Formats: sequence, C-alpha cells, structure tokens
Amino acid sequence: MADRCLFCRIVRKEIPAQIVAETDDCVAFRDVNPQAPLHVLVIPREHVPTLNDATDPALVGRLAMVAADIAQREGVAESGYRTVINTNADAGQTVFHVHLHLLGGRRMGWPPG
Ligand code: 5GP
Ligand code: ZN
Repeated sequence: MADRCLFCRIVRKEIPAQIVAETDDCVAFRDVNPQAPLHVLVIPREHVPTLNDATDPALVGRLAMVAADIAQREGVAESGYRTVINTNADAGQTVFHVHLHLLGGRRMGWPPG
C-alpha cells in the first residue's frame, strides 16, 4: 500500500532520488536503471497503483505535460522522445504506483519489445 510503496516513499523523500521536477501534483526523477541517455519517471504524488485504477481524467495529462517540460529542458523536444506507461504483467510493470517513462537521447525502435 501507500505506506510501503517505493514511489510514495520517494514522494515523501524517505528514499533518495535524483528529482528533476516537482509540481503540486507530480514528482519526476531519474530512473535508477536508465534505458536511454534521458530516462525520467513522472509520477503523481497520490498513490494510484496502475492506469486501471485512475479516476481523475486529468492525471495522465498532468504527467505528460511535466514530461514535455523536462524534454524541452533536457534538449530532446525537437530530436524526439518517447513516453510510456506500462500496465500490469504483459507490459512489464514492476512498480505499482503509476509512472510515465520519459525516454530520449537515442533512436528508439518500433514496435517496442
Ligand atoms: P515499470 O517496469 O514498472 O514500468 O518501471 C519501473 C521503473 O522504476 C524501472 O525502470 C526501474 O528501473 C525504476 N526503479 C525501480 N526502483 C527504483 C528506485 O528505487 N529509484 C528509481 N529512481 N527508479 C527505480
Ligand atoms: Zn505509491
């Protein structure tokens, strides 16, 4: 639950993370195991386990706008970047607090693996 949730603990600053942006609703920090030169996770402060549990239609919009701001600041807005939300087992979700991956700084393949 939220008490022991890894990403809630990052929001509460109980666990260190390289935070790159904070808003009233969201926190963004660098992924500990980056899959691209730029790999940031954008999360809601509120504990929502998966996209299936989202009730606020603005949730993903807020995550996406924070990601777009960071992409601009990190210099990949024009070259391109990818935003991904993995949901449950088939997508490989491992942390059950909704997060938007922001990946950039290299050419991505499609379809994703
Ligand atoms: P998922 O597979 O659930 O979509 O992505 C979870 C992501 O969280 C992975 O990319 C993983 O590297 C990252 N991650 C897991 N634990 C930590 C942590 O303690 N700190 C940070 N910064 N990232 C983490
Ligand atoms: Zn959480």
